[in-house]
Amino acid sequence: MKIILLGAPGCGKGTQAKYLSTEFKIPHISTGDILRKNILDGTEVGKIAKKLIDNGQLVPDDLIIKIVENRLKEDDAKNGFILDGFPRTIIQAEKLENLTKIDKVFLLEVDERVIVDRICSRRVCPVCNSVYNLNIEMIDECKDCGATLIQRADDNEHTVVKRIEEYKKQTAPLIGFYESRNLLSRIDSTCREIAFEAIKKEIYLEA
Ligand code: ADP
Repeated sequence: MKIILLGAPGCGKGTQAKYLSTEFKIPHISTGDILRKNILDGTEVGKIAKKLIDNGQLVPDDLIIKIVENRLKEDDAKNGFILDGFPRTIIQAEKLENLTKIDKVFLLEVDERVIVDRICSRRVCPVCNSVYNLNIEMIDECKDCGATLIQRADDNEHTVVKRIEEYKKQTAPLIGFYESRNLLSRIDSTCREIAFEAIKKEIYLEA
């Protein structure tokens, strides 16, 4: 199964990707996580990405396409994968069509009013990338690996507004793109457990 998770920042793509990766034993490929790892490692890609990410802007298509192209060539991605955060523009989606055939695209929908609050109370594990929300559980250590949770540099009110704007302008057109290819399913992502059940059901129906 080759799956894309689509949706606004904070809609739950990372959470669902993690659940799905465990359930179907296919890799979770998050372009945001790959870029953040590059920033931590101080690579050239990281240097370019940092300024843009901190401003809530997208990184250039060419750069991210190259990263994904290489990642999809790795052995663990041969039998399927979950793409989280890619594609984010029509150009990226067109390029992806030339690289591989996607089976299903899930659009995770949440009320825009809850997005800012969700993102500002989000904490992430810098080691295994698990995602938590302080509104759901007040913890400061990762339940999976014990590392101290951190707040992402771009998870603040100012940057979130810019990221939502970018989503509407550059990424939302992908909804029509995948609808016209009969690949899109809309999922209510207000509650993570219910959303996961809905996604699983569709995948099992498809299989
Ligand atoms: P979120 O879904 O919460 O916005 P991500 O971790 O997916 O967060 O992405 C964080 C940032 O990384 C984005 O705001 C953007 O700057 C950059 N980024 C990630 N994926 C892409 C992509 N496919 N194209 C361009 N920029 C990207």
